[in-house]
Amino acid sequence: MAGIPLSCKDRTNRDGIIYTKNLGLSAMEIQFARGFISEEEAIELKDAAGKCNIEMFIHSPYYLNLTGNEKNAEMNKNKIRKSVHLAHIMDAKVVTIHTGFYGNLSKKKSMERIVRNIRSLRDEFEKEGIAVPMGIETMGKREVFGSLKEVIDVCKRVRGTVPVLDVGHIHARGNGCLKEKEDFQKVFDEVESLGLEHYLIHLTGVMYDRDGEMYHVPIRKGDMSVIKLMECIVENDYNITIISESPILEHDAVYAQILLDRAMEISK
Ligand SMILES: [Zn+2]
Repeated sequence: MAGIPLSCKDRTNRDGIIYTKNLGLSAMEIQFARGFISEEEAIELKDAAGKCNIEMFIHSPYYLNLTGNEKNAEMNKNKIRKSVHLAHIMDAKVVTIHTGFYGNLSKKKSMERIVRNIRSLRDEFEKEGIAVPMGIETMGKREVFGSLKEVIDVCKRVRGTVPVLDVGHIHARGNGCLKEKEDFQKVFDEVESLGLEHYLIHLTGVMYDRDGEMYHVPIRKGDMSVIKLMECIVENDYNITIISESPILEHDAVYAQILLDRAMEISK
């Protein structure tokens, strides 16, 4: 689940971890959307997550752009540096990043700048002995870099990155393309070329128009067939982590778990 559960009384990350465990869930994404945590808190969260057996993921600040001029890119790279350093302290599995906008650039030029910037960050982290991969998220708005194909291309070109399959975003960008199990299968077939053993999936309902994503809604309010996603996962026995980014965070995290259980029943 992404962020602190809404019904969690104290609204701290640490309580969020404990609450996540109590809901019977196994992963939590800490969001740096509203600011970074301190290194002390990161250590505290690592301990709490270890005790609760919760896998930790990080979402770096939402507003990120790696396609600007050098000065601007550097400013944005600092946000990623900070996110990755904290993730390293917390022993988080992946740091999700948004890569940026095309703006006036061609898609090809945007790709070049993004690959160059991410590669240089990767080199820095490697020198520091930091192995937390950067997760390149599929984005829902067509004006934003991050179609499934672009994300896979970045991951192919930059070692040390993994795709973050935000299926709601793929659905919105594809004008409602994820309806049947086969539609989800196509997504997994495309990422298969990366040879990964684990997939990180972001899940929410989403409203969209011709330009792609408009806003997130609860899973049941959207028209993406989440049960078909679960059937596809069960059928292939994919090793996955699903993070709920729904506006009704923990409700949909639990709902997703129920759908996954149901898909397992169907497959028996
Ligand atoms: Zn995101």
